[in-house]
Amino acid sequence: MSTFYQPAALGEALSLLAGADRPAVLAGGTDIVVARREGKRADTAYLDITRIPELRETAQAEGGVTLGAAVTFSEMENSTVLQTHFPLLCQAAASVGSPQIRSRGTVGGNVANASPAADVAPALAALDAVALVQSKSGARRVPVAELIEGAAKTALDPGELIVSFFIPALPPDTRQGFDKIGRRNALSIARLNGACALTARGGKIAQARLCIGAATNRPHRFAEAEALLCGRAPDEALFAEAGKLISAAILEETGTRASSVYKLPVAAEFTAALLRKTWEEGI
Ligand SMILES: Cc1cc2nc3c(=O)[nH]c(=O)nc-3n(C[C@H](O)[C@H](O)[C@H](O)COP(=O)(O)OP(=O)(O)OC[C@H]3O[C@@H](n4cnc5c(N)ncnc54)[C@H](O)[C@@H]3O)c2cc1C
Repeated sequence: MSTFYQPAALGEALSLLAGADRPAVLAGGTDIVVARREGKRADTAYLDITRIPELRETAQAEGGVTLGAAVTFSEMENSTVLQTHFPLLCQAAASVGSPQIRSRGTVGGNVANASPAADVAPALAALDAVALVQSKSGARRVPVAELIEGAAKTALDPGELIVSFFIPALPPDTRQGFDKIGRRNALSIARLNGACALTARGGKIAQARLCIGAATNRPHRFAEAEALLCGRAPDEALFAEAGKLISAAILEETGTRASSVYKLPVAAEFTAALLRKTWEEGI
């Protein structure tokens, strides 16, 4: 038997998290319940966070957008605020699993679970999203790219909860894109995914943000490829060059793996295609 808490206030949730029985945070349950069923977890207490208002809101804020950690993928997909400011986040959310998973799974769970194959975490990393993390003893702000430290490893301390994400506004004339390669079209875990934002000025790329996910242990922007793109008038050769830089950066970070023979050339082509699509059709 497990204890099940379902607080409706943030303060109560943080006090319960600091309690002696150290409940596991439960959001949509699409990772944690599966792990329990597979015998990989045996938590004795759970804290359901889905009734806490601060975790459920998506709102425009000064200089950006605040996205509650317990907002589901379906809610992200249909959010007018996200569609207006960060359509790539809607695309990333829409790419997740199945309608059932999208209606339960949350953005906070995607980050806290720290799966290298996560779809929404790389999109947040590309956008320099910052998590508001709270515990009974205080709050701190941590960039998503630092919060996820590696496969299934985060910088969250026991008793800490991700409350929300702040996503800073993009400059005007920024085109956004997200794409994913899975094993098949439906219900597929990413083999590769990518999020991209390109700011246009006078026919050139003034600013580039690029995160290729499911290729390394944690999502982050790829500075070298971004620097290559900045100040250049884009063409096929530039996109291909950026793709090769991504492939080389992945190899440097991960070393040669069994999947490298597939992933490295595909990452180069995938990146070039994502950049082209974002520049030509970006939203
Ligand atoms: C069939 C299937 C298909 C899937 N397909 C995809 C896919 O295509 N793309 C993809 O990215 N993922 C996919 N997933 C994985 C999963 O749906 C996502 O990782 C989802 O974001 C998890 O969110 P959740 O709310 O269900 O998390 P939960 O299972 O509730 O929690 C996951 C972990 O995060 C912790 N946690 C949750 N919220 C917080 C918080 N606010 N603060 C601190 N810790 C927290 C929990 O304690 C737990 O350790 C799939 C899963 C299944 C079962």
